[in-house]
Amino acid sequence: MGRAIQIARIFGIPIKLHWTYILVLPAVYMIWTQDGLGTDAIIFFSILFILLTVCVILHELGHAVMAKRFGIKTDDIILSPLFGVARIRQMPEAPTREFWVAAAGPLVNLVICIFLAGYLLVFAPTTVEQISTGLTDALQGKANLPGLENAARFELGMAILFIINLVLVVFNLVPALPMDGGRMFRAGLSIFTDKLTATRIATFVAQMFVILLFGVAYFTGQWVLAILAAFIFIMSGQELRVTREETFRKQFTLAEVVKTNYTPLNSFSTRTEVKELMDRGFERNFAVFDNEGKLSGILTENELARWFNTPNSGVGNDIEIFVRRDFIYLTPDISLDKVITNMRNSELGMLPVLMEDKSIGLIDSDSVFEFLKFRKKLRS
Ligand SMILES: [Zn+2]
Repeated sequence: MGRAIQIARIFGIPIKLHWTYILVLPAVYMIWTQDGLGTDAIIFFSILFILLTVCVILHELGHAVMAKRFGIKTDDIILSPLFGVARIRQMPEAPTREFWVAAAGPLVNLVICIFLAGYLLVFAPTTVEQISTGLTDALQGKANLPGLENAARFELGMAILFIINLVLVVFNLVPALPMDGGRMFRAGLSIFTDKLTATRIATFVAQMFVILLFGVAYFTGQWVLAILAAFIFIMSGQELRVTREETFRKQFTLAEVVKTNYTPLNSFSTRTEVKELMDRGFERNFAVFDNEGKLSGILTENELARWFNTPNSGVGNDIEIFVRRDFIYLTPDISLDKVITNMRNSELGMLPVLMEDKSIGLIDSDSVFEFLKFRKKLRS
């Protein structure tokens, strides 16, 4: 995703601005001043721009909060000029859950729309006609703000926000991947067919939509639509690749890759011994057992590096200081796709496997990916 700057933290989720977003701000300002917008109008549009950003953040938070309900973490929310992304760890497996996580975003904008419409209809003293004239002037961007009173200006702002949120709802509900509507569509299809076929159909719809967008961009000269179309084209293709990969990984179980012949370490193992093991064989990850033969911790490449780079305290053996104890156990019957998800979530490059005979096996991500690479070669 490249560099992004954190601007806030909501519900424990970092909200970040992508660097391209920051790049766009001065450009927008320049266009506004070139269009002859006065200070007044620039302040008006700046506030509107901030409110729009808030709406996008709320949309992404909708996804994140729904995902949290299903026990799925969101790493962060990144805002870029064209869209926001909530980086959800792993979309839920169950289609109904995926549906609700996807639907939560547009639903937030719909709720905002209802509130704004309610406000404008009930409280706004300005007539619809005044607002629409102001809106046309504002959208053409050439005139200074029409001679509206402050109250009317506020209503104009609310009306513009209403329209933007309505556009967000409609646009996001287009059944084309990677948009929310595409995810909802795929989740719906998954009830009748497998996920890969559902993704293929949703990707096909996305490509049709891309052609339509390019057409509209060509005939209206709205180049932003062409960029959007290109983006959807790339992202939907990527979505299909990811699903294909996922389906492939699901064919294999951990039992096929788990390592049971490794050198067990204990709390007396020294650096020299471990270094020797590494030099001799291909062991890069280790399991440390206590006196009763129970697993007490694991050492992945990261911990090994820290251990070897720390000067020896000289006080007895220090292996126990560096072992990780925050691991979870996997079982040999789960699919390799689940293994990768678990490794990603635990942020550990290796995990212990509780075998059927209660012995401990080891699995590291390199072995999983190498196995998959090899099986792919066999297939082709
Ligand atoms: Zn969304």
